[in-house]
Amino acid sequence: MKLFDVYPLNPIEISKASGLKVWDKQGTEYLDLYGGHAVISIGHTHPHYVRKISDQLKEVAFYSNSIENPLQQRLAALLGKQSDKEDYTLFLCSTGAEANENALKLASFYNKRSKVIAFSGAFHGRTSLAVACTDNPKIISAVNRHDVEFLPFNDLAALEEAFLREGDQISSVIVESIQGVGGIKIASKAFLSRIRELCTQHDAVFIADEVQCGYGRTGDFYAQDWSGQRADIYTMAKGMGNGFPVAGISIAPKFEAWHGMLGTTFGGSHLACAAAIAVLEVMDQENLLKNAADMGRYLLSELKQIEGIVEVRGRGLMIGIELPAEMKDVRNQLLFEDHIFTGVASPNVIRLLPSLTFSAAEADRFLECLTNRLKAYPMAETAIKNNVI
Ligand code: PLP
Repeated sequence: MKLFDVYPLNPIEISKASGLKVWDKQGTEYLDLYGGHAVISIGHTHPHYVRKISDQLKEVAFYSNSIENPLQQRLAALLGKQSDKEDYTLFLCSTGAEANENALKLASFYNKRSKVIAFSGAFHGRTSLAVACTDNPKIISAVNRHDVEFLPFNDLAALEEAFLREGDQISSVIVESIQGVGGIKIASKAFLSRIRELCTQHDAVFIADEVQCGYGRTGDFYAQDWSGQRADIYTMAKGMGNGFPVAGISIAPKFEAWHGMLGTTFGGSHLACAAAIAVLEVMDQENLLKNAADMGRYLLSELKQIEGIVEVRGRGLMIGIELPAEMKDVRNQLLFEDHIFTGVASPNVIRLLPSLTFSAAEADRFLECLTNRLKAYPMAETAIKNNVI
């Protein structure tokens, strides 16, 4: 049997990984500033993580959600404390799309409405309603039709107009505080505050999609925290398990649960909880939120000095470097010649999503390689208009 060919692949086979380093099967070492798409949060094969999962595997790997699992309670307690949401409750699942799907469904159970507001540039996953909330018609099929309206990102007037027009029909507003796939676009504080106010006013549900931007990546636990607002539901995945598939939604106290309301077979398994607990323990013990904030600040200020970059955007360790169109090969050069993994977003944005353990020495290696790569191009007519908040 062959694989269903949906992924464009780089001709690299990773056979070993540690921290921010990965090695291919020929033994070539790479610096990983992509973390497998923002997934590696505490570094590849972190010893505490490996030990916790291995120990758990020897005891019990899985049983369904029909029995008591104290690991789920421990995970909820740690998450509540570290995210400063001890009054919220936790529902566990396995992927980011599933987290968003459950958040949107819970919102609709709550206010019995079906309309969802999403934004231009948004990516929320590939399940039916999550993909309907994703601003990419190419990946939405005929069976994914739902009542979703897209508004321009960061446009307060359009948001106000939508609520004025049909505020009593809006079930939820789903937003990434920093759009990832959309090219590292930051939601303004004013925009997030207005979403909060309008949702409160109209009893709509404010869903913060923290699947990519959350879990410490920006230096705050949730990227949304920076706005000073509390969302009704936070969705999370990626960094939560450092590679183990675990996801969840953190739910405000106003939502009441009833048996059977939400459910999943794999969500919150013993192994998934062991992985997620290990991640939170390492984040706490190694003060990784502070490291993400400090390293992000350093990287952003250094990137601002490099000539030839159109725009640098981001916060913490979620950084977008927009290059002129003629430099579209730089990312491949970084990968195949300098051996540095980075991410991409169109148009021509290099995305940095490294592990929160990222060090200054690793930052310097990247900055040197990027500077040299850009120097090799004849200077484009580009102003550096940095948008670092
Ligand atoms: N939401 C955001 C912001 C994402 O970036 C992603 C994945 O890239 C998802 C949701 C979907 O997550 P998953 O691929 O785990 O379903």
